[in-house]
Amino acid sequence: MSKQQPHKARKRFGQNFLHDHGVIRRIVACIGPKKGQRLVEIGPGKGALTEGIISVTERMDVVELDRDLIPILKVNLFRFPELTVHEADAMKFDFTSLRTEEQAIRVVGNLPYNISTPLIFHLLSQASAIEDMHFMLQKEVVDRLAARPGDSLYGRLSVMAQYYCAVESLFIVGPESFDPAPKVDSAIVRMTPYKTLPFPVDNIKKMEDMVRTGFQQRRKTLRNNYKGVLDNDDFTALNIDPSLRPERLDVEDFVRITNYVLKKEG
Ligand code: SAM
Repeated sequence: MSKQQPHKARKRFGQNFLHDHGVIRRIVACIGPKKGQRLVEIGPGKGALTEGIISVTERMDVVELDRDLIPILKVNLFRFPELTVHEADAMKFDFTSLRTEEQAIRVVGNLPYNISTPLIFHLLSQASAIEDMHFMLQKEVVDRLAARPGDSLYGRLSVMAQYYCAVESLFIVGPESFDPAPKVDSAIVRMTPYKTLPFPVDNIKKMEDMVRTGFQQRRKTLRNNYKGVLDNDDFTALNIDPSLRPERLDVEDFVRITNYVLKKEG
């Protein structure tokens, strides 16, 4: 249905439309929507994923930036009066406004690849309103999100995502499932925010700073990256070997470093 529409895909909006019905069914099955749940989709496009979800939940909120797509979406999904379309930039959208006292939101989307990392940081800052997230992303971004300490792609995105969420890489999707086809493989990720954080930090902004500083030069040692912040005595007190590279530290280590520095700074 969507192929008959005269809309030309826009690169600047990261538009690669899903047309593989097998993949769409598989994604919806992984999401497992239930009637009455509060599903929110980022970048519904022409509704490829939206339809499979709203036909179960019966209601849905979607956030779409390309105003030319909205009439197409509304025609394609005219059978669903409880579809609420927010013409807005997801990067600035207040997702917490969609949660109710009883129900957290479930966020889904085949995300525009050009803004996927900052968008994930934006969502993580609202994690307390979110039950879970299912995203299609460039495979490399999914690998970064799910990387474990010691993996070559383990870095700032892995630590911050895993501070808030359990992260699972679900399956890979090849370029041929999209129109136009992207140059690289994509993958589906599930991110489930912890109801109780396993390692809570005293100040999240400080944690973001400390993780950024720690990974500033990932081939250098912790001693180097934390020069002027932590000295040898501090590393001893923390029981962390300063000759390690940052990719060896897990989320708990970064939380301990942050809380230690906060205490030290008074
Ligand atoms: N969900 C559709 C699909 O799977 O076929 C479209 C996915 S396409 C990769 C990304 C979608 O995000 C497009 O509809 C695009 O217009 C929209 N988009 C891009 N930037 C956005 C933003 N900042 N906020 C909301 N939507 C955005």
